[in-house]
Amino acid sequence: MVGSCLSCVECDSNLENYCAKRILTYNNTYYDGTNTYGVYSPMKFFGLDKPGLHLGVVGLGGHGHICVKFAKAFGAKVTVISSSPDKKKDAIDRFGADAFIYSEDANLMQAAMNTMDGIIDVASKAHSLQPYIGMLKTHGKLIALGSPSSPNSLPVVNILVGADIELIPMDYVNTTIERMEKVDIRYWFVIDVGKTLSLMNSPIGDVYIVPPNKKGTPTTQKDSCCCQNL
Ligand SMILES: [Zn+2]
Repeated sequence: MVGSCLSCVECDSNLENYCAKRILTYNNTYYDGTNTYGVYSPMKFFGLDKPGLHLGVVGLGGHGHICVKFAKAFGAKVTVISSSPDKKKDAIDRFGADAFIYSEDANLMQAAMNTMDGIIDVASKAHSLQPYIGMLKTHGKLIALGSPSSPNSLPVVNILVGADIELIPMDYVNTTIERMEKVDIRYWFVIDVGKTLSLMNSPIGDVYIVPPNKKGTPTTQKDSCCCQNL
């Protein structure tokens, strides 16, 4: 938020964020009647203000075009991703984007995988974040500034893959709860349901090796679930 009335009960109690007249960082009207866009601050905060970066901007309407202008001013290579192919001309000719991807074109989307240092998502229609996570390089930043009426979706596997996990058999769950109470946890616990079930059917069902702090791999995620998100 960038403003409040400074005279109501909430403001007097240092709770300006509860002020009925608070002005949000973006999609609000500022004192002078202009729209608040608020894209500069998050781009700056997350380090997406350096020359030479490759930045994606999802959605051109609303404040998307402001993102493009800032990103170009910072010296970034800018790719606009949009579900409206007719926005390509504006994106490139009018706002100076270097490239345009029509988000329904699977080949173009695939070609952009793992190429971007950051993505600013201002799309106003609810969508899956999965392809955009895939477009980021390792440690890339996804800044979500859109305000769709229903939530964007993010498959949990996107968070799990690449994270450090501790793979556990099902009968270790009670121990994990004890360990959580003692804060004896460093990673996510992931229950290996498939392996647990197969061992239950085997004659040596009580023999089970718990690999401590094992690096997760996509193949372990299929039949597992996450019971503790740190
Ligand atoms: Zn107030």
